[in-house]
Amino acid sequence: MKPNNGIEKIIDEKTQGNTLVLANDKKNPRKLYIESYGCQMNFSDSEIVASILSKEGFNTTQNLEEADLVLVNTCSIREKAELTVRKRLEKFNAVKKTNPTMKVGVLGCMAERLKNKFLEEEKIVDMVVGPDAYKDLPNLIQEIDEGRNAVNVILSKDETYGDVAPVRLNSNGVTAFVSITRGCDNMCTFCVVPFTRGRERSRDPQSILEEVNDLWNKGFKEITLLGQNVDSYLWYGGGLKKDFDKATAMQQATSVDFAKLLEMTAMAQPKMRIRFSTSNPQDLSLDVIETMAKYENICNYIHLPVQSGSDRILKAMNRLHTRAEYFDLIDNIKRIIPDCAISQDMITGFPTETEEDHQDTLSLMEYVKYDFGFMFAYSERPGTLAARKLEDDIPLETKKRRLREIIDLQQTHSHYRTKQHVGKTEEVLIEGTSKKSDAHWMGRNSQNTVVVFPKEKYTIGDFVNVKIKACTSATLLGEAVGYSKNN
Ligand code: SF4
Repeated sequence: MKPNNGIEKIIDEKTQGNTLVLANDKKNPRKLYIESYGCQMNFSDSEIVASILSKEGFNTTQNLEEADLVLVNTCSIREKAELTVRKRLEKFNAVKKTNPTMKVGVLGCMAERLKNKFLEEEKIVDMVVGPDAYKDLPNLIQEIDEGRNAVNVILSKDETYGDVAPVRLNSNGVTAFVSITRGCDNMCTFCVVPFTRGRERSRDPQSILEEVNDLWNKGFKEITLLGQNVDSYLWYGGGLKKDFDKATAMQQATSVDFAKLLEMTAMAQPKMRIRFSTSNPQDLSLDVIETMAKYENICNYIHLPVQSGSDRILKAMNRLHTRAEYFDLIDNIKRIIPDCAISQDMITGFPTETEEDHQDTLSLMEYVKYDFGFMFAYSERPGTLAARKLEDDIPLETKKRRLREIIDLQQTHSHYRTKQHVGKTEEVLIEGTSKKSDAHWMGRNSQNTVVVFPKEKYTIGDFVNVKIKACTSATLLGEAVGYSKNN
């Protein structure tokens, strides 16, 4: 790809590796290679890191072998995610044999969870940086340059990186993440996030709107407002969410909650598509659902993790809602936005889960008939309440069988949902070439379902009306019938 404004982005699909070349930094050319794993929040953080280091004059090459600094943005949500990182570090060990001056840093949740232990357990690692300490990277890099190990895993009460303009990585130039909160105050017993990302704090709505307007001016057509739990977004001048009741009456009266932020964003750029993730059933308000219905540019899709369909297990997970309350929320969503798509997160095999609890999960899925979902077997995370209080007592074979049943049922429901689009004409935002055919575009409709259709005269970034002709359980197949009014 030809360099533009001095920056060239190269994408390595297999390792999700990005290399950033700052051709204009002649004084001190250094090469950075960054890999990201885990949730969208981590990919968004890597864009913050790329921005912070772009100001430190890093320069790089396409291949790992020539990198001066390798950064891995790690995930700790399940044991498998951490094993993936350890495997990559082994790879770097081999690379270091031919590139002995290469430095390796680990970022993200696994770095925060392990802290100094990471240096003891993985000798290749020179630097360990937690999710709230990326602004300290220039100092930490100086330390490792001077031959010392460097660690900063301090969690912050107010860091939101609202003043850092992300450098878009892996970007299709059409869709982008905009982070609005950091941390999480919900202490779900299975989850490591509150320990690795700290207490909840929200970003200044003005800096969010500036980023959204900047993205629109750069030709982006869709944004996803991002947070571990976007529904509990609350801006009252900065600081932790949990200290809101200590705020002044004026601060409380002029505070901005998620429904308000959603409305401000939709009004700021009426032609830009707005999505958000991730929601939490105990915090998702009717205001948010009604705001979605009020603005055409807010997409009709909600990712609404539930984790289990059993009240007994929900209680053991410290999920602060019941099965019945979840059904009420689903009914309200369907009443206010009938064609709203809903996706789920589900954990099977949580400690003490009985066959009856599992059947409750299957029957909840039958009630909702989700559009799609992310389903995993329980993975005990060190330091969590569940790990400390509950024995991981469900046999692996049982976990696997129940997971199979959940995945199969979801497959059936996903196909039931995609079939409902056949025969309809839907607005699709083109994001790129279909993975399966160079002659076809892929994009998504408002419901976040992938749509594939012949390229014809259209191009990336166009809003196109597509007549849906057929479907699989995951994809809609159609033909363009013209530009959408939003194009
Ligand atoms: S809401 Fe629960 S599962 Fe989600 S990040 Fe917070 S603690 Fe983890």
